[in-house]
Amino acid sequence: MIETKNIKASKEKNVDAIYIHIPFCSKKCEYCDFCTFIRMEKEYRKYTDYLIKEIRMYPKIKYDTIYFGGGTPSLLPAEMINEILNELDWSENAEITLELNPTDMTFEKLKKFRKIGINRLSIGIQSFQDHVLKFIGRQHSSKDAVDIYKMARKAGFLNITVDLMFGIPNQSIEDLQRDLNILQELKPENVSIYSLIWEEGTVFWSKLQKGILSEIDQDLEALMYEKIIDFFEKNGYCQYEISNFARIDDKDVEIYEMTNFEDLKKLQKNAGRHNLKYWQNQKFVGVGMSAASYFDNNRYSNIRTFEKYYNLIDEKNLPIDKNTIEIVDEVESEKLKKMLGLRLIQEGIEYFEDEKIEKLIENGLLEKFIIEKDNFINKKNKEFEKNECFDKNLAKNFYETRIRLTKKGMLLANNVFVEFI
Ligand code: SF4
Repeated sequence: MIETKNIKASKEKNVDAIYIHIPFCSKKCEYCDFCTFIRMEKEYRKYTDYLIKEIRMYPKIKYDTIYFGGGTPSLLPAEMINEILNELDWSENAEITLELNPTDMTFEKLKKFRKIGINRLSIGIQSFQDHVLKFIGRQHSSKDAVDIYKMARKAGFLNITVDLMFGIPNQSIEDLQRDLNILQELKPENVSIYSLIWEEGTVFWSKLQKGILSEIDQDLEALMYEKIIDFFEKNGYCQYEISNFARIDDKDVEIYEMTNFEDLKKLQKNAGRHNLKYWQNQKFVGVGMSAASYFDNNRYSNIRTFEKYYNLIDEKNLPIDKNTIEIVDEVESEKLKKMLGLRLIQEGIEYFEDEKIEKLIENGLLEKFIIEKDNFINKKNKEFEKNECFDKNLAKNFYETRIRLTKKGMLLANNVFVEFI
């Protein structure tokens, strides 16, 4: 069991990210299985107070990334978000993200969010086609989405990520193309684009079971994904994760010339730092109902009901669902690192000899590549200064072989991941 007093006294040094779950929405979307509740305005005050109590159960940490997710965190008054932020310490260049829906928002509120320290918005747009939005049960229109995006820019948000979906039953390839055309004009720093997942317990799931809805053709879905990858490649974005694309601002960096980790940093300058930490298997704190944490070699999630959440905190216990606790030893951590790292399209993972890997390479799902190690440039320059030349044999120490998904591998990513479990 994870004791609150042990967490509080923990000397865990490798955590600098916190996720804060706000479980409120104004309407439940038909495909969504997140822990979120509607018409709960009366709960906002109490829930904020308990979030703060839970934050205080963790040691004081200087955070590099803070992420308000949900649900719809932007439904909370800016003053409450500010109260939560006041409980946290963060570094000077911290990334502080808030998820936002294109409804229930005003210019004044956006300005308040900016003023209290939110410096990155994640806008849940999903589609710019009204008929698609209606189909998935979203409240906003395409116009609302574009208006909010522009309003956020005016309110001073220089870092915006947009969430989109594809593979929706009534969405055509032309609909998707129109979405991409709009992105071309808006030029957000980051785009997350996921295919629809049919989650058990959702309205969509029961419609699927009853035969009212059916999944889209797999070939069409693959075609859509290929279209997405090509679009971002041609429009100056770096695909840094299977479903995430970051705008490249450094005109000197060509994606195919990435030879070292310095280039990679430039390519990924606009990538969501918080989510990158998940994929790099870094540790993080999660507070709020259903939030997941990776702390002190344990992975666990919080319970999902208000009553239990409040009761456990009142009893001075962390509001953890005991059934979710997993101990992450070194072996497990290595496994996770490989599996999550493979989602990272540019950097992939370090190559290791393994029969399954060779097979995946042979089948064109993975590719090997060479990259200069992190500290290569400095060392190279120092060597050059010292000897007025650079010993090529020495260079071997500064290169490493890595593997990453190919385009075919991305399309069949689930099959590849199975090999790593
Ligand atoms: S707005 Fe987001 S969190 Fe809320 S119901 Fe819709 S998809 Fe789920």
